[in-house]
Amino acid sequence: MKLQLLRSVIIMVDYLSSTLWTDDEIRFREEVRAFGQKEIAPVADEIDKGPYPRDLIRKIGQAGYMGVHHEKEVGGSARGLSYEIIVAEELSSINGGLDMARMASATLYGMPVSKFGTDEQKKKYLTPIIKGEKIGCIGITEPDVGSDTAGMKTKAEKDGDEWVLNGEKKFITNGSVADYMCAFAVTDPSVKAKNGMSAFIVDTKSDGFSVVQDHELLGMKSARVSWLKFEDVRILSDMLLGEPGQGFHILMDELDSERTAIAAEAIGYARTPYEIAVKYSNEREQFGRPIRAFEGVSFKISDMAMKLEAGRALTLMAARAYDRDENITKLASIAKLFTTESAIQITNDAIQILGGAGYTTDYPIERFFRDARLMTIGGGTAEILRFLIQREVFKEFDELNKL
Ligand SMILES: Cc1cc2nc3c(=O)[nH]c(=O)nc-3n(C[C@H](O)[C@H](O)[C@H](O)COP(=O)(O)OP(=O)(O)OC[C@H]3O[C@@H](n4cnc5c(N)ncnc54)[C@H](O)[C@@H]3O)c2cc1C
Repeated sequence: MKLQLLRSVIIMVDYLSSTLWTDDEIRFREEVRAFGQKEIAPVADEIDKGPYPRDLIRKIGQAGYMGVHHEKEVGGSARGLSYEIIVAEELSSINGGLDMARMASATLYGMPVSKFGTDEQKKKYLTPIIKGEKIGCIGITEPDVGSDTAGMKTKAEKDGDEWVLNGEKKFITNGSVADYMCAFAVTDPSVKAKNGMSAFIVDTKSDGFSVVQDHELLGMKSARVSWLKFEDVRILSDMLLGEPGQGFHILMDELDSERTAIAAEAIGYARTPYEIAVKYSNEREQFGRPIRAFEGVSFKISDMAMKLEAGRALTLMAARAYDRDENITKLASIAKLFTTESAIQITNDAIQILGGAGYTTDYPIERFFRDARLMTIGGGTAEILRFLIQREVFKEFDELNKL
């Protein structure tokens, strides 16, 4: 089924609601949607065979959608995270893997450089990303280190005016196609990771940087996700982001914006299957009536709508708080946890509503179902997010009860 046809029956209402969104945000969403329909929808199924053509990232950059949350001085439009979540939802509602690649470059790589980079670093290593001319990635996860990022093994040792990087990074979105990586490494093993980790910009053309392999994935097939190796990669001191030992702080800060943007992507993956399911349940007849007449079907639609609307409101709340410079660890974790678990349920229910047709590739629901499954794993698993939420709750409780 062609996604363009579906767009003639847009069903969701709340993204056009001025109770949640400003008039400018609503106009912006319509603009991003029109771009997605023109440039991505015609190839959305095709690029799922992977990898996406690099030219698409260039077009997204030229349209301004890599830099809505970046400063004007470096080529962004400084509109904030509330606009980035609009881009994330709209493009993900067409092809999940492509937006994951866009976001890995613009947000996961882009935000640490934007917030902690020098003017010189931003000009050289961020502006080309915002233009879509270069691609970025973020290197946190390692073969033996996932959720427990403080246990990182990749090391960077000082040698004169250079740092020498050794280690491996696994499951890195854009890894084998990236020009630059924001890489995290231990620089002072004598202290705890909180103070002994640093962040670097690494040029992937450096000697000693290699690709072990691209991972074969269940979904997100238009993106490249790679296992990478650093063997005595030499990095000039001016490639350090922030101060030595500031890496853990940079990482925690990055995760807040990443989780909010992922929450928006999850709404995108779920929204299209939901829209297809609503339309299909209206048209498909069994026992002499449209299947929407059966509560077994229509109540699933109710639950899907409820989860989508609640998820969007939670995500916007986190983005608005981020744009006000507030601490959003709890809000971002809640938004990501709710929307990603909902996306898995919604895409699963959409398959059920279409019956046999839902299990075929005649409809893109199976693609979104595969894409959505990642989202309770990447960027903080559901279990880790539950841990973080309760930790923040008890922090607030203890703070209040100190008095
Ligand atoms: C497609 C894809 C793209 C990715 N892109 C990137 C990227 O661009 N950059 C990057 O750095 N990483 C990336 N990742 C890695 C991703 O962030 C990690 O997979 C994730 O953080 C989980 O780490 P892990 O896979 O090592 O699982 P583990 O940490 O080994 O966890 C395994 C299981 O144990 C559970 N668990 C672990 N600790 C606890 C605990 N304390 N309490 C309860 N349960 C726990 C987890 O929730 C999970 O269910 C990507 C992964 C995938 C699959």
